[in-house]
Amino acid sequence: MGQPNLPPIPFNKPFIAGKELFYIAQAVTFGNISGDGHFTKACCQLLEQRFNIPKVLLTPSCTAALEMAAMLCRLQPGDEVIMPSYTFVSTANAFVREGARPVFVDIRPDTLNIDEELIEAAITPRTRAICPVHYAGVPCEMDRIMEIAEKHNLMVIEDAAQAVNSWYKGRACGSIGHLGCYSFHETKNYTCGEGGALCINRPNLIDRAEIIRDKGTNRKQFFRGLVDKYTWVDVGSSYVPSEIASAFLFGQLEHMDRVTTRRKELFDEYVACLAPLESAGLISTPRIPLSSQGNYHLCYILLNSEQTRNDALTALVHQQIYVVFHYVPLHLAPYAQVLHTEQAQLPKTVNCSGRLLRLPMFHDLTLEEVRRVTGAFDDFFRDKGAVVPKPHFSLTRTATTSKLPASATERTKD
Ligand SMILES: *Cc1c(COP(=O)(O)O)cnc(C)c1O
Repeated sequence: MGQPNLPPIPFNKPFIAGKELFYIAQAVTFGNISGDGHFTKACCQLLEQRFNIPKVLLTPSCTAALEMAAMLCRLQPGDEVIMPSYTFVSTANAFVREGARPVFVDIRPDTLNIDEELIEAAITPRTRAICPVHYAGVPCEMDRIMEIAEKHNLMVIEDAAQAVNSWYKGRACGSIGHLGCYSFHETKNYTCGEGGALCINRPNLIDRAEIIRDKGTNRKQFFRGLVDKYTWVDVGSSYVPSEIASAFLFGQLEHMDRVTTRRKELFDEYVACLAPLESAGLISTPRIPLSSQGNYHLCYILLNSEQTRNDALTALVHQQIYVVFHYVPLHLAPYAQVLHTEQAQLPKTVNCSGRLLRLPMFHDLTLEEVRRVTGAFDDFFRDKGAVVPKPHFSLTRTATTSKLPASATERTKD
């Protein structure tokens, strides 16, 4: 179908939350644009206080934060790290760079997070760490994961790239494991283009993290007056972001809750408009467990087969509605073969990744655009001959008066 003159709906669009450019100008005026200046400190303080994290260090990316976390694990070649296969490559790469072997565990079909009940079976004498990924900003079952880790003396590194300002039983994602990693990449909820942070939740890891971040030197201790010169004391790299990036980021972090509120409106509209397709059994929409508060990082749907997913993607992209899919499961990727990560079957990972579509989701998306996206799915299924029921509430209501059935907003796991 598709009306030919409508503008394209991109998958993602960066936005300005407030004073980003003003803060960049300020950073330049302050005369220090390299790093760890006024705005880097301001961002760290804000994150530490809001999320109750002992120490936050900004990094140039979440990938860099994961690399630092892997170094802090003091891994030996052949050590094993448990993680989902359904994730971004950096989750695995960070540990592979240290000589460790990723051991992939299947996901739960309701949240697409690592299935916490399959973790213990994957533990061997070489297991050193677990790296759960909070997919779509929906928290993993951290209580169970921390319990397993404690029992087997394992480190837990939360890949919270997508989960900044997501909460699990009152605790912020990234603040629960030994270490947590955030992303401020352009595609995430809060951004400075490229950026990240390492959350350090065990005070005994702070000193070494600061050394690794600053090229393996004890410069931080020197600035604090603890040593009289700074020098090479450990392995490290260049993981300090520039003040310009931090200044931009501060402008976004200041508006953290406004951003989440907006994304929730968009997410709820998607779920409401897609409800008829869902009740007809044609798609399913994400579940957010009752125990947690998501950040609405992304909205995805699961179609009933890979073929339908691919056909729907083609149909929508044809109308310039840019839906996308991810991830190619890591255990099936070419580099997994190179690493010989012999792997048990991961049927849910393979099944879900083949059926998933991500819908446009960004701060400046409008409710009208959301309805255009969901209308395109209605058309797609009608064209296929499916009976698409009418929505059972008005789509013209305003966001403030929106009243969804409790089951549509607060979804429990099955
Ligand atoms: C985005 C993302 C990363 C990488 O973040 P960068 O900041 O781009 O390095 C890592 N893991 C997951 C799950 C992500 O979504």
